Amino acid sequence: MTMDERVLKWVAPLSVVLMLVVCVSLYFFPELHENSFLVSEEYDAVPVDAEELLAGAQAPQNVVEETEDINAQLKIELPEGVDYSEVVIENNYLLQTIYIRIPTDATDYFSRYSVKGSCDHIEAISYYREGTKGVIAFALDKLYEVSDNCADGSLYLNFVDPHELYDKVIVVDAGHGGRDGGASKQGILEKNINLAILLELKEILDKSPENVGVYYTRTEDVSVTLDQRVQLANKADADLFISIHNNASNSGRYTNSTGTQVLYSESDDSECSSERLAKICLEEVTAETGSKNKGLVKADKIYIVRTSKVPVALIEVGFMTNRTELEKLNSKEYQEAAAIGIYHAIEKAFEEGY
Ligand SMILES: [Zn+2]
Repeated sequence: MTMDERVLKWVAPLSVVLMLVVCVSLYFFPELHENSFLVSEEYDAVPVDAEELLAGAQAPQNVVEETEDINAQLKIELPEGVDYSEVVIENNYLLQTIYIRIPTDATDYFSRYSVKGSCDHIEAISYYREGTKGVIAFALDKLYEVSDNCADGSLYLNFVDPHELYDKVIVVDAGHGGRDGGASKQGILEKNINLAILLELKEILDKSPENVGVYYTRTEDVSVTLDQRVQLANKADADLFISIHNNASNSGRYTNSTGTQVLYSESDDSECSSERLAKICLEEVTAETGSKNKGLVKADKIYIVRTSKVPVALIEVGFMTNRTELEKLNSKEYQEAAAIGIYHAIEKAFEEGY
C-alpha cells in the first residue's frame, strides 16, 4: 500500500465514526443547539380582515363637516326614530377602530345624514351594511377610549387618550393563538399555557386597586398577527409591553433544560429600557415560581421586540421540553404563580419609574 492508500483506508471509517459521534451527541444533548424559540416566535397569523372592512374607506375630510361649536369631537346625525339604546358602539382596541351599528336601511349613510366635528385622530371612515344595520367604522391614528352620549337625535363622540383616564397603561400579550399553537409537547400546546397564565394575570389585574388601564392582544384562542400585537402596544403608547411565552428545546425532544428566560431589545438604550424591564420580570417570575434563572436574552431579531416603541419584555416562563417543568406549566398552581410573579414585576417597574 502506498502512503495515499493507507490514508484513504482510514479516512472512510473515521468519517463514519465522526458522523455517528455527532448524531449521538445531538440526540442526547440537544440543549447544545438550543435557542430555537428565536425562530418559533416568528410565526405570523393570517391578518384579521381589517383592511377588507375598511375597503372603500373615505378620507375623513370627505365625510366630516368641520365645525367647532358642538362640544364634542364628532356629532353623527341618527335616522329619525332611532333610539340611543338601539345604537351599538364597539371599540376594537386591537385594530384601533370604532364600529357604530345603527338600525337603518341607508345604503349611503353620509349622503343622507350629517357628520360634523373634527377629523383629528381619524384616519379613515367607511360605511357598510350588516343585516338590518348600517355600520360606520372609524379607523383611528392611535388607541382611544370612546365616550358617547345622545341628544336631539344625534350621537356625540369623544376620543379619549387612555393616559388621561389611567395612571398607567400596559399591554399584555399571550403568545401564539388560533392557527398558531407555538411549541407543543404531549398534545399540550404553548398557546394554551400562555393564555392560561394571561387569564390568571387578568384576574389579579381586574381586582387590583391601582388605576391601571390594561389592554390584551387576546383573551381567547384566536389568531393575532405579530404586527397587530406590537401595534397595540405602540398605538396605546403603553408604559409596559409584556409578552408571555414558553420555551422548547431546539429538537423538540425532552432535555434537562429548565427555567425562565426573558427576551429584551438590546437596541433600546432609553432610561426605562427593555433590558431593565426584562431583568425585573426575570427576578420576580423566578422568585415566585421557584424556577431556575436562565438569564436575559438579546432579542432584536424577534419582530415584536425589535419594533416595539415602548419598553418590552418577552417572558419564556419555562421549558415545555422538560418533563417535570411541563407538568408544572400545565398546572393551575404554577400558572397562577407565574402570573403573580408578572404582576409583581409590573408593580416593581412602576416603582422604578416606568
Ligand atoms: Zn412562543
